[in-house]
Amino acid sequence: MSLRTDAVNHVSYGTISSPDIKGAKITGVFGESVFTLKTAREYLSDEAYKSLAASVRGGKKIERTVASQIASGMRAWAESKGVTHYTHWFQPLTGSTAEKHDSFFTLKSDGTAIEEFEGAALIQQEPDASSFPNGGLRATFEARGYSAWDPSSPPFIIEIGNGKTLCIPTIFISYTGESLDYKAPLMKAVESLNKAAVTVCNYFDKNVTKVTPTLGWEQEYFVIDEALVNARPDLVQCGRTVFGFTPAKGQQLEDHYFGSIPERVYAFMRDFENESYKLGIPLRTRHNEVAPAQFECAPIFEEVNIAVDHNILLMDVMSRVAKRHRLVVLLHEKPFAGINGSGKHNNWSLATDTGVNLLAPGKTPKTNLMFLTFFVNTIKAVHDYADILRASIASASNDFRLGANEAPPAIISVFIGDYLTKVLNDVETRVGTKFDEQDEAILKIDLHRSIPELMIDNTDRNRTSPFAFTGNKFEFRAVGSTANCALPMTILNTIVADTLNKFSEEVEALIAKGDKKEIAIMQVIQKYIVASKKILFEGDGYSEAWHKEAEKRGLPNLKTTPVALDAMVTEKAKKLFKDNNIYTHAELEARHEIELEKYIKKVQIEARVMGDLATNHIIPAAIKYQNELLKNVSLLREAALPEKLYKGQLTLLKDVSTHIQQVYENVHAMVEERKVANNLTDSREKAIAYEAKVKAQYFDKIRYHVDKLEQLVDDELWTLPKYRELLFLR
Ligand code: ADP
Ligand code: MG
Repeated sequence: MSLRTDAVNHVSYGTISSPDIKGAKITGVFGESVFTLKTAREYLSDEAYKSLAASVRGGKKIERTVASQIASGMRAWAESKGVTHYTHWFQPLTGSTAEKHDSFFTLKSDGTAIEEFEGAALIQQEPDASSFPNGGLRATFEARGYSAWDPSSPPFIIEIGNGKTLCIPTIFISYTGESLDYKAPLMKAVESLNKAAVTVCNYFDKNVTKVTPTLGWEQEYFVIDEALVNARPDLVQCGRTVFGFTPAKGQQLEDHYFGSIPERVYAFMRDFENESYKLGIPLRTRHNEVAPAQFECAPIFEEVNIAVDHNILLMDVMSRVAKRHRLVVLLHEKPFAGINGSGKHNNWSLATDTGVNLLAPGKTPKTNLMFLTFFVNTIKAVHDYADILRASIASASNDFRLGANEAPPAIISVFIGDYLTKVLNDVETRVGTKFDEQDEAILKIDLHRSIPELMIDNTDRNRTSPFAFTGNKFEFRAVGSTANCALPMTILNTIVADTLNKFSEEVEALIAKGDKKEIAIMQVIQKYIVASKKILFEGDGYSEAWHKEAEKRGLPNLKTTPVALDAMVTEKAKKLFKDNNIYTHAELEARHEIELEKYIKKVQIEARVMGDLATNHIIPAAIKYQNELLKNVSLLREAALPEKLYKGQLTLLKDVSTHIQQVYENVHAMVEERKVANNLTDSREKAIAYEAKVKAQYFDKIRYHVDKLEQLVDDELWTLPKYRELLFLR
């Protein structure tokens, strides 16, 4: 029996029941594994609690002595839940998370065994992390990397089997302070944005003292039976299928979308949702996606820092819980050719400490102007830094979506809907005419009344836009499903901070010249609308016409990661990140290097897996079939049958032989190109060689012939589970 038939026979049709939620209410378990401030109140002294709360809310530093009190309170809480170990939990540049577990258990100098957790261990650790990517940074500066406690994200307990570990969210930095992870720069960006946005907010409302970016992500994923996945080495090693003929019934019927969720998957969802609730992840929606076996979940939005942690945690929880159900979650952007890919829409907005969503149109002329200010500044930021925003979502796996005839395209544009387009046009037509008191009429545009309609009408029309306004937030749709949201969120918050800073400078200059505040603001808004007009696009981002139009407008269309990444190390980028205190030049160079290396490795692995599969699965199966045909033909000849009676077999034989030969030749040629690429020392050149010479030149070609063979070879001989099995059996 082949691996494939064995796998198909082992598809676990049965549903594993999910553990019932206590009292059937989510509120009953929500946050039970999180050391929230509420829990802290119970376990900490007054002094320790106040210090922690001040740090969580206002970013105040925690004294070491107090840290020890907090640590022992945390331990008491964790132990009450059966926790034995703790770990600093961080997000290195590999894209996943890292943990190194230590037990509370320790021996005193006299040999007595005790359980302890000291302040020092809470605040800082030195994981033996020499194998995390650092782009040469630690070599240049200092060999050690430290993880440092980030009190703004609450500690939580991870359960694996019966083991429970207290996870302390940390940032990961070098001894000399260079950041080596995704979180540290994000926190800097959040702070820069806060400063810039508060200044602008104060033009409208003096009571605002803090502005926080909010993020609500939508996570798309595929769920496939574990036995079938295990029989596909490409899924196991690359997270995507490198071969596979798209079945007769794909997604044409779109009958999966918003259809009922299959029972087995439903049990899995309830299970991982339950785990997520315990961790305080506020999941809210679940539904089928367009492609067969594709689903989506989304939480209620949160402060970006917390939302990022929750997304990374969720991806981990999903993958682990899936195993219990003998399922595998595929987070890859494009697991199946010819079938929709997966994204992770990042819904983003700005919230003030006075409870205002700055991207929600207001109810009065004054709040409308505030809305218009933040709205236009965001558009201007995306316009000015489209290349950097594009770079922030570049990865080998996302290239299969962005660069390859799938929505959204690699061209960054902004969708705002008909109504706001009209509003911006109205403002723009006043170009050249100086605003005076009469023109204040424009400040009174009645935005809020029309916006709800806009949301209903437009949110589903802009599926093809990489960056769409959806009524009270922007939705960055080009983010990949495997991505850590921290990077695109760092970039988005930075470019908006930078734009807001420039905006207030210009406004101040006009006020200094004697303009009234509102008039000054309106003039700069007008100027920004004119300057960033070319980034606005309402049509179908998927269409050929848009690609041409975008080129005419001079918008970058960087289809592949190695070249898209260039934007991170230009003079413009260096200035942006330095001005806003996000990355030093050295950090940028290091990150560029790391991203290139990640790209090279990913393509390298895929090329190898392709070669392996072709050589060990495809060609042997095809040869068996070729032999059968040969035997058949020679027997027919022996029987002296007229050739016209087995012309079909002869054609088949010719076709099978041709494709075998093509697979063989192209795999060999690809291996040769890999050798050439491997000899290049410059990472960028090497990445480009892997892209252009290995991937672009051979992946599709090899796949073409393999998929042809899949259609020709006897089904019984084919060893790899086929798309129809992967996508429809569960
Ligand atoms: P849809 O995009 O399908 O219209 P929703 O409007 O419910 O659906 O929002 C989708 C996502 O946007 C959810 O994850 C939600 O939490 C998030 N979201 C809503 N408001 C905000 C906001 N102000 N800031 C950030 N995310 C938000
Ligand atoms: Mg949405």
